[in-house]
Amino acid sequence: MTRKLLMIPGPIEFDPSVLNLMGQPTLSHVAPAFIESFGRALEMMRKVWLAPSGQPFIVAGSGTLAMDMAGANLIESGDKVLVVSTGYFGERYAEILKRYGANVTLLQSEVGDVVPLEKVEAELANGNYKLMTFTHVDTSTGVLVDAKAMGTLAQKYNVLSILDGVCSVAGEEIRQEEWGIDVVVTASQKAVGVPPGLALLVASEKAVNVWKNRKTPVGNYYCDWSLWLPIMQAYEGRNPSYFATPPVNLIQALERSLELILDEGMNARFARHKRLAQKFRAEMSELGISFLPKSAGITANALTAAYYADGSSGGEFLSKVGENGVIIAGGLLPSHKTQYFRVGHMGIVTYEHIDRTVAAIKAALGK
Ligand code: PMP
Repeated sequence: MTRKLLMIPGPIEFDPSVLNLMGQPTLSHVAPAFIESFGRALEMMRKVWLAPSGQPFIVAGSGTLAMDMAGANLIESGDKVLVVSTGYFGERYAEILKRYGANVTLLQSEVGDVVPLEKVEAELANGNYKLMTFTHVDTSTGVLVDAKAMGTLAQKYNVLSILDGVCSVAGEEIRQEEWGIDVVVTASQKAVGVPPGLALLVASEKAVNVWKNRKTPVGNYYCDWSLWLPIMQAYEGRNPSYFATPPVNLIQALERSLELILDEGMNARFARHKRLAQKFRAEMSELGISFLPKSAGITANALTAAYYADGSSGGEFLSKVGENGVIIAGGLLPSHKTQYFRVGHMGIVTYEHIDRTVAAIKAALGK
């Protein structure tokens, strides 16, 4: 049987040349060829994140670890943090930061909406915050936040900013340095285009300085930048080093995927994601399907969250789409879980993938 097309919001379809590296005999983590791959991957991350003076980190783990790492290093007990949440993953960030003693204020949007910028600004103006987090694309709602405007606000009030870009880096437009965002975190299995297993982030010089000037030690051993920064610097300087064994094959796969991303070019890549998302949603609209995000201007390009068509029951619909060769995902937001489904269209996604997905959905609806 032919393999079904994986159109969930991560993991996604991966390029064969990326997958091929996962099956190669594993090199020593200090082999010159691996040191070169690691060094190149770090250098290319700066270009993909559009953060020429940022400090990249590549660590074995998932996106949650990348979120945890940024929080562990930047938060000291009692710090005031504003978490701007558009769904499930904003709430997760609040929970992570509380573990490090942060004094968290959560601004939660309505389902399918963003928190209005005026509300964020009013809070920043009065709150004496050290840090703000926000989710670029909340994978539970398909809502896209205006990262540029949020970065600008954080700068205006001299507040550190962390962008959860797990469902956006290398898919949605992000210009980390130009937009003044201090940390952008992601994971390998989404638009970055590598199987699950890598926590990735780029930190600004300002964020690294805030960490350097901490009064208290980082309360998490595995995440501590004082253990990881020398490793990243060593690999980038093409020198052997060791703190904790890096996932050799995944990092070689990352090097390949970042190469493919940069070959396409960031502007072309952002535009392709937009084009394909618009095509997919135009076809869904024709079927009478409506979407969770309240307006087109706040709708993600990396995925679509859509309400089940009238009369189609969730589980049955998803398995019928599966029988037609395409895997899509159910809802995630606990309050609305049974009412909607999600389709990922990021990474190496093509028109053909979109057409197959639309055809499978039509067939499942009996159209
Ligand atoms: N944030 C967002 C926006 C996500 O989509 C996800 C994963 N779906 C995470 C964080 C957590 O990442 P992971 O599952 O890789 O830990």
